Amino acid sequence: GADLELASVTKSYSGTVAVDNISIKIPAGTYCCLLGPSGCGKSSTLRMIAGHEDISDGDIVIGPRVVNGEPPVKRGTAMMFQSYALFPHLSVRDNVAFSLKMRGQDKASRHARADEMLELVAMTPYADRLPSQLSGGQQQRVALARSLVTDPVILLLDEPLSALDPFLRIKMRAELKRFQRELGITFIHVTHGQEEAMALADLVVVMNNGKIEQAGTPQEIFDRP
Ligand code: ADP
Ligand code: ADP
Repeated sequence: GADLELASVTKSYSGTVAVDNISIKIPAGTYCCLLGPSGCGKSSTLRMIAGHEDISDGDIVIGPRVVNGEPPVKRGTAMMFQSYALFPHLSVRDNVAFSLKMRGQDKASRHARADEMLELVAMTPYADRLPSQLSGGQQQRVALARSLVTDPVILLLDEPLSALDPFLRIKMRAELKRFQRELGITFIHVTHGQEEAMALADLVVVMNNGKIEQAGTPQEIFDRP
């Protein structure tokens, strides 16, 4: 794993300050939930860590390196998208292998790696199906496998459970936690739900108005008198 540090990170979009000079250290292997009202800067923060969005000011440090300007692959990050972002015309295996193809890996090695990931999420029997032939929970597991295939040290999850029905949400929540523990990598999970943060997080970061309002364990954040 690798420690993550945001040092005085700011993001402005032509006048709007979306993220306002935030600093935090997140040790390797942390399950971090990023909480706060709509528009407070959660997604922008996530995208800056992922490397999908340039920062306006400050530094992002992963392990020993300042990674400002590096692409996701180089900084060791990956983003898990909601299951409806799977490619409908590609098999489960090809969905999982997709980013390896983009990187020019040969077919045999990317299929072997994809199958390894499908085994991790218990989806081996479904490798040749299309996403539309899977249940919502199964699609979610494929989306997770797809995001892990490049072996990231930090996985960013933007409201990954919000498209699921309440029953499945609880089930997938437990699975996310289990995978994070097994892999030992950092998960940073944006959510609207206090309950979700409570169930998952080692570290809860509460944002408001582009700033970090509080950071601590779920007990420290939620059990205050
Ligand atoms: P959250 O994820 O907490 O809802 P965002 O990071 O999406 O917050 O947005 C924070 C603020 O930045 C909001 O005011 C939003 O409208 C603005 N914003 C986000 N993305 C862009 C963008 N691409 N261009 C302009 N403004 C943006
Ligand atoms: P989320 O709900 O996940 O925070 P949104 O639906 O608000 O995301 O935004 C989706 C996309 O639109 C993102 O790429 C974001 O950067 C962009 N966006 C968000 N707010 C604005 C804005 N005020 N102006 C321009 N683009 C925006």
